[in-house]
Amino acid sequence: MRLFNSKGIRSQAPLTSFYPGRFRQWCEGATPYPIVNACMRELNATGYMSNRGRQLVASCFVHELGLDWRFGAAYFQHQLIDYDVASNWGNWQYLAGVGADPRGHRRFDLDKQTRQYDPDGSYRRHWLGDDADNSLPLDHVDMVDWPLESGHD
Ligand SMILES: Cc1cc2nc3c(=O)[nH]c(=O)nc-3n(C[C@H](O)[C@H](O)[C@H](O)COP(=O)(O)OP(=O)(O)OC[C@H]3O[C@@H](n4cnc5c(N)ncnc54)[C@H](O)[C@@H]3O)c2cc1C
Repeated sequence: MRLFNSKGIRSQAPLTSFYPGRFRQWCEGATPYPIVNACMRELNATGYMSNRGRQLVASCFVHELGLDWRFGAAYFQHQLIDYDVASNWGNWQYLAGVGADPRGHRRFDLDKQTRQYDPDGSYRRHWLGDDADNSLPLDHVDMVDWPLESGHD
């Protein structure tokens, strides 16, 4: 079934890298990107996220965090109350650049999207509270899994 194939329906090789710490940060809504964090907290609390949010967090997952798209699709499958096999896996494929998308590369500019879709910050404040403006670091360990010393207390 090519819906679940890492190369998608276009048989185009995507990233297959995986960083457990980054995956966990994304799932918990603790990435360096407040708009992504707000969306993920909404998903975790309600099982729902708007279409715009789904595109932003999936783009972040693949293009900013460098993670294998299938792990993101599997997390959505687990969390979404409107989970649908074709919509979910098909949309993840298109955002990972291996699906049906005439425009090809889909990397969303998260700062620009934040200004456009949450200009007054009310969505972020609703889901993040006091954390709304906090910029969180990305990696807590180095490439061989040793904790990084400074700036990550
Ligand atoms: C990666 C990915 C995975 C997906 N997986 C699935 C899936 O498993 N199942 C599925 O059915 N679909 C899936 N979709 C498709 C789509 O995201 C959903 O069907 C859609 O979000 C359902 O919500 P909606 O009909 O309210 O549409 P939306 O496009 O989210 O919203 C419709 C309108 O309501 C407005 N709106 C949305 N949220 C708010 C809010 N909080 N406050 C005010 N206005 C709001 C929007 O601006 C828009 O104008 C997926 C999409 C992506 C990108």
